Amino acid sequence: MTSSGAPTVDPARVAVVWDESLLGYKLSEDHPLHPVRLDLTMRLATSLGVLDGIEPLVPSPAPDAEVERIHVASYLDAVRRAPSHGDDPRHQLGTTDNPIFEGMHEASALVCGGSIAAAREIAEGRADRAVNIAGGLHHAMSDHAWGFCVYNDCAVAISWLLDHGYERICYIDTDVHHGDGVQAAFYDDDRVLTISMHQHPRTLWPGTGFASELGSGRASGSAVNLALPPGTRDAGWLRAFHAVVPGLLRAFRPQILVTQCGVDTHHEDPLAELSLTVDGHRAIYRSLRSLAAEHSDGKWLALGGGGYGLFRAVPRSWTHLLATVLDRDVEPQRTIPADWTSYATGKTRRPLPTSMTEDAPTDFEPWGGFTEVEVDPFLLETRRAVFPLHGLDPADSRD
Ligand SMILES: [Zn+2]
Repeated sequence: MTSSGAPTVDPARVAVVWDESLLGYKLSEDHPLHPVRLDLTMRLATSLGVLDGIEPLVPSPAPDAEVERIHVASYLDAVRRAPSHGDDPRHQLGTTDNPIFEGMHEASALVCGGSIAAAREIAEGRADRAVNIAGGLHHAMSDHAWGFCVYNDCAVAISWLLDHGYERICYIDTDVHHGDGVQAAFYDDDRVLTISMHQHPRTLWPGTGFASELGSGRASGSAVNLALPPGTRDAGWLRAFHAVVPGLLRAFRPQILVTQCGVDTHHEDPLAELSLTVDGHRAIYRSLRSLAAEHSDGKWLALGGGGYGLFRAVPRSWTHLLATVLDRDVEPQRTIPADWTSYATGKTRRPLPTSMTEDAPTDFEPWGGFTEVEVDPFLLETRRAVFPLHGLDPADSRD
């Protein structure tokens, strides 16, 4: 631990998955999930020195057998033939959300390969933390594409970990959308605790992720959903997170955290209505790091996810993510380097950011057991639904 209390890790014990070939996951030229966000993130992190001395872990495409941990073989066939066969509504290929693109199978298998490679570094003892910002495609379902996601690299990596020595895995999903594909993959598996925080399903696609979705059979309690009202800001989000997640981790005792770090919770995001800032995102990553140190022996696999503020939100937020994973925290007041700005200039009509902060306060009042602010009924609904299944008291703020 440092004097500031932040856990420390040797950068050599962190795997950063990256290769420019990951930019090949491009659904179309004008699709919201445009890979320019990954390019701009890696360039910003590099410019700020976050990646100094880091040799990226270059992924290979996951073989079919690995993708088939989660997806049925007939779906892989459909994805492979889609570029030559055209629209395939049965597999949700060729829709507005999931356009078909050349090399779709290969690009999607590469994202899975990246998340498996990251998981392998941890499982085989070479790393304590690993990050794949190209990953986090949490919506993809067993037999169809869903919500911009072709193959579910999060679920594939978790399944891989289950076969390589892990039997208690906690998946935490901070994307603004429900982590429905990962929840579905492990809905009856009590070895995987899935926790998704998202904008309320009554107000946002995909319309699932209610507190009452708990997992099935013996796994009841292994799916956790915390739905927040539109407009929720940093302080409310963090209050809800800290009222639900740490208690569950204490009870579940995970061996590793797998986190989907989507940043479409940002207040400027064009697809959703939560109101977080890049400062709030930085606070989330620091919380995840502390929780991993406290509850999972420091083991943390961080994945990307959604985020459609391509120039102003994603590059800053995920640079903070990379920095946090590497214990090279970037001070919020840091100025955006000129070389990044000149690279990004002309690619967007929006004003480019000039510093790593939005000057947003990230302190919050922890939930104290009463209903005092707008998020409290929402966090209470989740606590009431799931805490008793873990032997925790929903009304006791110490749990
Ligand atoms: Zn999303």
